[in-house]
Amino acid sequence: MADDDVLTEEQGMIRGMVRDFCENEAAPRAAETDAGRFPRELVGRLAELGLLGMTVPANEGGGGMDEVSFSIAMEEISAVCPSLSVIFAVQNSLACAPLHHYGSAAQKQKILKALVSGEKLGCFGLSEPSAGSDAAALRTTATRSGDGWLINGAKRFISNSKEAELCIIFAATDRELGHKGISAFIADTGAPGFEVGRPEEKLGLGGSSACDLRFENLDADSLLGEEGQGFEIAMTTLDAGRIGVAAQAVGFARACLDASVAYARERESFGRPIAGHQPIQWKVADMATEIDAARLLYLQAARLKDAGRPFSAEAAMAKVFASDMAQRATSEAVQIHGGNGYMKAYPVERFFRAAKVTQIYEGTNEILRQLIAKHLLG
Ligand SMILES: Cc1cc2nc3c(=O)[nH]c(=O)nc-3n(C[C@H](O)[C@H](O)[C@H](O)COP(=O)(O)OP(=O)(O)OC[C@H]3O[C@@H](n4cnc5c(N)ncnc54)[C@H](O)[C@@H]3O)c2cc1C
Repeated sequence: MADDDVLTEEQGMIRGMVRDFCENEAAPRAAETDAGRFPRELVGRLAELGLLGMTVPANEGGGGMDEVSFSIAMEEISAVCPSLSVIFAVQNSLACAPLHHYGSAAQKQKILKALVSGEKLGCFGLSEPSAGSDAAALRTTATRSGDGWLINGAKRFISNSKEAELCIIFAATDRELGHKGISAFIADTGAPGFEVGRPEEKLGLGGSSACDLRFENLDADSLLGEEGQGFEIAMTTLDAGRIGVAAQAVGFARACLDASVAYARERESFGRPIAGHQPIQWKVADMATEIDAARLLYLQAARLKDAGRPFSAEAAMAKVFASDMAQRATSEAVQIHGGNGYMKAYPVERFFRAAKVTQIYEGTNEILRQLIAKHLLG
């Protein structure tokens, strides 16, 4: 990593601690996790290491770390186990972060502390069968019932939802108001009227569930933030989440670069290691260059966020560049490995399959290019 000297001592120590955990505990289980096993014991270890709720302030039970520390932890975990990186990202960015920013004192005491300690897992229910990119078109409704609300509707592809105990649900409380009539609720996934569908069969990330959800007269009394603030909560949460997705994409690509360099030194053709052939040299040179560029972009966005400055466009730029880069780098890694690259015996195919999703979730790259252009053009 070229930026060793620009990390603070504390950030460097956090990276070292996460790297040790990854090498010694996560890497040996990465293949079975990808094959579909939820890595419960690794999630427990993340909690023990203080890596759930990393950026939640210490007085709310969290790690009190900055966004840069979270992002570099994300890169490390992603470079060994894509599924674990999604579980880690959802808990930190999509569950703990909105609870910290918008939760009441009582919600922080009861719910946020349980998320940070790993006692409970959370998930983020925004997307629906007919509302993905156009999230404001969601059809799930919440209607008043006594002191609380009744939620009806459906969600699609919700990460961690098979294992999660809690879900943040976005629902229309006043359809007339469009996106300003959307509110956020915290619901217990075991409550009557909350149904979790079978996990989807996905291209990658086998150890992380993505399920459809169905709500039928789900009783919800826990509003997150104000009534009508749900769309703002969703968008600000995803703004920050994209820094993590960019770091995730860098982790996938870095794992592929490291594997490719090692393989190119060993594998021989035409009487010498393939590392001696110029086309292979150019591939690794391009991969390394683009990985460093993508890392600088996510660090820039993270540092802006840490400084309390606007970072929405920079986070989108980091996510778009890093995810497109990861598509190229993971594909070139498979190419450098030749036929072996296509086989599950070598790890690069796992990262190749995982990388695609970084162009899709938390805002597709098409939508994010529009967001970046809007910042420029108005
Ligand atoms: C593995 C996985 C995990 C996920 N986890 C979660 C989760 O935890 N919580 C959650 O809420 N969601 C989750 N999602 C859903 C994800 O956020 C959506 O899939 C994503 O936002 C895209 O929505 P869509 O699938 O409906 O695609 P669509 O919105 O139907 O888009 C289809 C295509 O059209 C393009 N497009 C759409 N509108 C425009 C436009 N205006 N201009 C240009 N191009 C456009 C898109 O970029 C895309 O290429 C997950 C998805 C996956 C695959």
